[in-house]
Amino acid sequence: MTDGRGETPRRTGMTEKCGVVGVALDGRDAARPLYYALYALQHRGQESAGIVTHDGFQQHSHVDRGLVGDVFAEGDLEGLAGSAGIGHVRYPTAGSLDTSCAQPFSVSFKSGSLGLSHNGNLVNADEIRDELAALGHAFTSDGDTEVIAHDLARNLLEEDLIRAVKRTMRRIHGSYALTISHDETVLGVRDPQGNRPLCIGRLEDGYILASESAAIDTLDGELVRDVRPGELVVLDADGQGFDSYQLVEEDNTAHCFFEHVYFARPDSVIDDTLVYEARRELGRKLWTESGVETDVVMPVPDSGRAFASGYAEAAGETTPDGEARPEDDDGVEFAEGLMKNRYVGRTFIMPTQDERERAVRLKLNPIKSTIEGKTVTVIDDSIVRGTTSTQLVQLLKDCGAKEVHVRIGAPEIVAPCYMGIDMATREELIASDKDTDEIREAIDADSLAYLSTDAVADVLETERIDLCLGCVTGEYPYDIEGEEADREVDRPDLGGRTMAADD
Ligand code: AMP
Repeated sequence: MTDGRGETPRRTGMTEKCGVVGVALDGRDAARPLYYALYALQHRGQESAGIVTHDGFQQHSHVDRGLVGDVFAEGDLEGLAGSAGIGHVRYPTAGSLDTSCAQPFSVSFKSGSLGLSHNGNLVNADEIRDELAALGHAFTSDGDTEVIAHDLARNLLEEDLIRAVKRTMRRIHGSYALTISHDETVLGVRDPQGNRPLCIGRLEDGYILASESAAIDTLDGELVRDVRPGELVVLDADGQGFDSYQLVEEDNTAHCFFEHVYFARPDSVIDDTLVYEARRELGRKLWTESGVETDVVMPVPDSGRAFASGYAEAAGETTPDGEARPEDDDGVEFAEGLMKNRYVGRTFIMPTQDERERAVRLKLNPIKSTIEGKTVTVIDDSIVRGTTSTQLVQLLKDCGAKEVHVRIGAPEIVAPCYMGIDMATREELIASDKDTDEIREAIDADSLAYLSTDAVADVLETERIDLCLGCVTGEYPYDIEGEEADREVDRPDLGGRTMAADD
């Protein structure tokens, strides 16, 4: 156990913050729709991309490091024959700069070929890997996706597909949204607590499974619904429909709130909520909880934009004390005071603090006239290490801002994520050992306020107990070695799951 301020315990398995997709079409090749869908999910992973298809006779695979646009050339797509397949984009994580962890993972074995795309992070992958290795399974990577693939392949030697998946779901512990191809059959599985998103869409001539509905929109499809926690969805090979099997049921979900705050595209609908609206609503709450009168409100582009627009809208309706504004008082001005250079990668992945600081400056440039001589509120979705806010406050002050107030659309991030978001270690998180006023001092802002966890639950219309708030509370939905997991839920225990269908 740690007191929430100690060292980050060893991670079991490797963090996989990724995007997954699967399609089954009525005759048409799946490669191109998969490719477009991966483009729509590019924000979920930039390290590698891949597609696996099956043409009824054999499996085809093309997986490489790089962005979707760089990984696939025209000829590669032509080589990916077959009307069913899956795809993956992988987020960069430390120590994974080789192709061994690139996905979809594919394997051929006695009862067919298997492709697997995983978003999430298992917390007991090492145990299962050791067990399978002792049985003779040879592993080519240290990722947990391969562990799932081997476990499933083993079960498929003895069971039909549905039972094999159910068996694997009973063994693996952690967060996972999976798309799987077993020969021509495409499946989608969401972990019993629904930690990572996965949804089903209808296309003109088939069905799609995707991490986010934006991928369905890109293909002019229609969102059918989210895959339910613990559900297995099997797409018909002829693209005519899908079957659903509720394989595992638990009393509580653990939806990741950070998908809504930062990770997902604003134009995606996740667990029935449009991410953009959720962010705007969080911004409105931020004004209600900690609004401060300033000359101008500006977002940190792009992550703070929806929050700032909600914040400024609410500021136009009420004063910080909650009083309705008089008709002649427009509240605060909303302005784009910071311009973003789109060609700079995410600051987060820069390996050294020096590079991260340089990257913030490369990425954001202020528009002096909207800042000089003014009191400014700058809004972002989150503070992780504090690099962005420290640099920004300095930048705005250098531009002549009279005061700089920082408002954050999420609670303090005090603990690491073990469920699939690459967040930083506890020692790196600025809020792990500082309270809000100490952080304010560290970033040199005139004031700083975060959103409350209750506001997050309120906006997502979910009980706190049904959200994974691990990074802001240190209480996780699964037992993590070295962490205190006192979230009061029906925590899964391998023997204690309720199986909805017959074993
Ligand atoms: P930092 O500069 O370390 O405080 O990180 C905060 C900035 O990184 C904010 O602008 C966020 O939008 C962004 N951010 C938050 N979480 C992540 C993440 N998991 N990966 C990459 N960027 C993130």
